[in-house]
Amino acid sequence: MLSRTIRDDVGKLQKSTSRLAEGQRVLITGGAGFLGSWLCDSFVSIAEVFCHDNLATGQLKNISHLKANEHFRFRNVDVSSPEWKANADFDFILHLASRPSPADYQKHPIETLRVSTQGTLNVLELARRCDPIILLASSSEVYGDPAVVPTPETYWGNVNPVGVRSCYDEGKRVSEALAMAYYRQYGLDVRIVRIFNTYGPRIRAKGAYGRAVPRFIAQALSNRPITIYGSGKQTRSFCYVADTISAMIKVLLDKRAKGEIFNVGNPNEISILELANTIVRLTRSRSNVIHEPEGEDDPKRRCPDISKIRSKLGWAPSVKLEEGLKRTLR
Ligand code: UDP
Repeated sequence: MLSRTIRDDVGKLQKSTSRLAEGQRVLITGGAGFLGSWLCDSFVSIAEVFCHDNLATGQLKNISHLKANEHFRFRNVDVSSPEWKANADFDFILHLASRPSPADYQKHPIETLRVSTQGTLNVLELARRCDPIILLASSSEVYGDPAVVPTPETYWGNVNPVGVRSCYDEGKRVSEALAMAYYRQYGLDVRIVRIFNTYGPRIRAKGAYGRAVPRFIAQALSNRPITIYGSGKQTRSFCYVADTISAMIKVLLDKRAKGEIFNVGNPNEISILELANTIVRLTRSRSNVIHEPEGEDDPKRRCPDISKIRSKLGWAPSVKLEEGLKRTLR
């Protein structure tokens, strides 16, 4: 069963998929993950959804409510394996399979690179056979520690190619290069979204999977210290999940997005210390802040310039941070 908080947003998202995706076959790699499962929910009422996930970071509980739905099929498979095959033709492929949490991908650097390289190649080769529209989920991490903030799509990035984050940053950069190569050489209809920090219901909080927002929420709710890595002056710009998903659907379904790259995020930039204080206030927590060593190569600032998606596709986020945090807390 979907919680009411998710159901309300999913209802709106389903309306945005209705016309163009009706009756279509949609493959979502990483479909049991945080963003992938929101996409499964958004398409399943009108399309045939094929969810492929090896549950490395995805979770069955994100899709368990869809198990009995005849328009939904789940396969526990690794899209980067040489044996991976999809026995169907697809109209849309949304390629999200990846390990996005810094602490987690640093523990699995080879697997992280493999899914961005071999996994993306596998998906693009499949696409040559059935000629779908492909949406590649890329990341703000392609910009590394950017010298230009807010960062537009035209910025080329500032990435340490051998640093601890390189398995993810460089992996996503290769994914993008592969997608554009298939677009140029074979004319595949590829669209790329560079997703900035996203939070909301279903994001994981525990252990290495935990990102700043869910970790701070879990710490605050149990009155444990909030762990800030470094000074807390580093910034991020947090986007509520329903906004991120609505942008992804727009890029997938709007023909003006063919061959284009879009930043997707909320340009409201705040420091990590401010984020911690906001969560402590909203939860009326007794937690205090403690400082732990700064993450290696941790970007100092991150904020998207969203002028391109705003002017070209008319998208902008609508959920303010405090409202999104309240929904996540519920
Ligand atoms: N962070 C933190 N404490 C935590 C988790 C994260 O201070 O318990 C910081 C982290 O060092 C980074 C920011 O919060 O500067 C965002 O981290 P997150 O893991 O959410 O993702 P990132 O933006 O680094 O991909």
